[in-house]
Amino acid sequence: MSMRDVSRPTVQSGDVCWYCRGRLIWGGDHDLSEEEEFFDMSSNLTCSDCGAHVIYYRLKDEEDDD
Ligand SMILES: [Zn+2]
Repeated sequence: MSMRDVSRPTVQSGDVCWYCRGRLIWGGDHDLSEEEEFFDMSSNLTCSDCGAHVIYYRLKDEEDDD
């Protein structure tokens, strides 16, 4: 029987650190729509356990109607 410690916190937001399974704390959003071609927003999060830094980039929702 495996006795590995697989206890991990239940994170309601779904933001779980890839490295330690700790909870990621949202730090803020940044509007990229004027400076990025493909992304319109980035969001940064920091792991409350190991300090890892995560940045999400949201793809622009482009509609090719021109
Ligand atoms: Zn972590």
